[in-house]
Amino acid sequence: MKNLIEKIKSLQSVSMVLEPDEAGRNLHIKKVMEFAHGFIDGLENRKAFKGSSPEKHAFEMNAKPIALDELLGIYDNEVANKGINAASGGHLGYIPGGGIFTAALGDLLADISNEYTGMNYASPGGVQIENELINWMKSIFSYPEKAIGNLTSGGSIANLIALTSARDAHQIKGDKIQKSVIYLSRQTHHCIEKALRIIGLEDINIRSIPVDAFSRMDTEALQRRIHEDLAQGLLPFLVVASAGTTDTGAIDPLDAIGKIAEDHKLWYHVDAAYGGFFILSELKRKCFEGIERSDSLVVDPHKGLFLPYGIGAVLIKDKKAVFHSHHHTAHYMQDAILEEQVINSADVSPELTKHFRGMRMWLPLQLHGLKPFVACLEEKIFLTHYIREGLCKSGFEIGPEPDLSVTYFWYRPENTEQDDFNRKLLEYMHQDGQVFFSSTIIEDQFVIRVAILSFRTKLKTIDKAVKMIRKCLDQTKDYFQNHTE
Ligand SMILES: *Cc1c(COP(=O)(O)O)cnc(C)c1O
Repeated sequence: MKNLIEKIKSLQSVSMVLEPDEAGRNLHIKKVMEFAHGFIDGLENRKAFKGSSPEKHAFEMNAKPIALDELLGIYDNEVANKGINAASGGHLGYIPGGGIFTAALGDLLADISNEYTGMNYASPGGVQIENELINWMKSIFSYPEKAIGNLTSGGSIANLIALTSARDAHQIKGDKIQKSVIYLSRQTHHCIEKALRIIGLEDINIRSIPVDAFSRMDTEALQRRIHEDLAQGLLPFLVVASAGTTDTGAIDPLDAIGKIAEDHKLWYHVDAAYGGFFILSELKRKCFEGIERSDSLVVDPHKGLFLPYGIGAVLIKDKKAVFHSHHHTAHYMQDAILEEQVINSADVSPELTKHFRGMRMWLPLQLHGLKPFVACLEEKIFLTHYIREGLCKSGFEIGPEPDLSVTYFWYRPENTEQDDFNRKLLEYMHQDGQVFFSSTIIEDQFVIRVAILSFRTKLKTIDKAVKMIRKCLDQTKDYFQNHTE
């Protein structure tokens, strides 16, 4: 016995390090905050993109303790300083994320008290916070009270949950898979097809409905295609609309698609991962008319609410359909199932144990109120107009007026192949890296995309961007002049 106690005590003296005292905690916090202040206040001068990779052995694990100063140095040099600087306002590529400071404080609180929010039984307060956020989102999108939802790690998993529910509601299994039809557009995010493969619907019929000049789904074509499929004895099952496509930010005609879905009893899913929160702005509310007709929808707070990566959301009207695959009981959970009135996130998601991610959303929204978030969204809309004007004035061609905050442009050179020219131009833009852009193909033509969604993108960011693009345009012209002579 004495021996045992001695052993435990000696282990304790080592494991104690995992519980620093207040002085120890302060020391760590101070250093991390020094880094944070330096990082945030230095963002203006950091590039938005640096195309280099970390040193080969930078992160090597060797089980020995390393001083925090050294680790922060490694983090700064090898992580924060390489690739796309996602925290930078100069990130105008793909769909920029957020990272507001107060969300990090929410995470800190969640991590410190380590709430287990998979089950109401374990953290009634934490679960209620997350359910309150889901109810708030239901009200934004005019979803009925009986709808349920989940805070996921992002849009992909949110879409996965919605499509699984759609599959189960329509019992798409066995022979029915090959007879069933899903309607997407060319602009639908690839995570939809990925989710279909994951949930065993690889062999289902997928129709890619054409889009109009604004990249919105052509609803007449959708209608026609459904009739053709019905005539062939197939089973139209699901239509996916986008409320803000990734490529061009286009919002499909949500109301018209909803009507078609209703007429043909299709499950209607709306992927609003990127654009959904623009509904909060009076300027854009009209574009979202009909979203309330959908059976399920996805929205990403780590995009449109400027939160750090790691929070998406799904809303679904048919609770039974959600529970079919996600609700599970086991003996070791018998104490928890007594409380069925409250929705447990574990019953709406593949996850059981999960991060209490609601805290990073609830804290900032409560602390700041909604107004700054809406102002920030509207600012992005006007900055998009502003950069389009700047690009026009600089001699670029621009895509059609966008629905939201994604647009695209290209240069029409005189004696060079247009795509080659624009590819080279983007190469120079990446080399410069002050502001980061990505590209896409629209109507078989290479174009450079501008996606404005970072809360740190401001007027001066756009001025800097246009200046940089002009410089790179000159470089590109020089390049082709020297290479054609
Ligand atoms: C970003 C995005 C997704 C994927 O969401 P993740 O959060 O990256 O998993 C899906 N659909 C659209 C329209 C998106 O913009």
